[in-house]
Amino acid sequence: MKKGCTFCSIINEPEIQKVYEDDTNVIIEDIRPAADLHLLVLPREHIRDITTVDDAKTLDSLLLTAKAHLADFEKMEKHVGFHQPPFNSQYHLHMHIVSGKMNAKQRKRILNPGWTDIEKAYELIDFLDLSSKARAPASMNLPNPSELNIPPPPSKCSSPPPSS
Ligand SMILES: [Zn+2]
Ligand SMILES: [Zn+2]
Repeated sequence: MKKGCTFCSIINEPEIQKVYEDDTNVIIEDIRPAADLHLLVLPREHIRDITTVDDAKTLDSLLLTAKAHLADFEKMEKHVGFHQPPFNSQYHLHMHIVSGKMNAKQRKRILNPGWTDIEKAYELIDFLDLSSKARAPASMNLPNPSELNIPPPPSKCSSPPPSS
């Protein structure tokens, strides 16, 4: 639980009605619904946003919770996704599920340029994971330049003599 985080407070406030909750995740209704149905699936653990998720298991878990505990999830006409910074309204990872009629203004609020649908979210996590793995070992295994057998750069006078 992070001090000052609205979602951490909501998650840990027993008086606030939840759609579903277990030891890992919580489903709540968005207080400013953008459509007939607008839910948020949050991990209990404070994770800042989609760019700080460690691996795809967190996404799997949020998605499985939604599938298991929301009737008709598979059949729903829906948008499922996340907001990427700086388009987050709350810095506690939350997966939006938006279904049904949306008005233009709310559509703009939800499907703004930071919107990352679930497929893109998995790609993003793969990409961030790969780039962090690529960075760490590469910097540790860089060979000492003096051990490399690199020929010296050609000097200016060594151009081949004219052929005739
Ligand atoms: Zn939080
Ligand atoms: Zn959001």
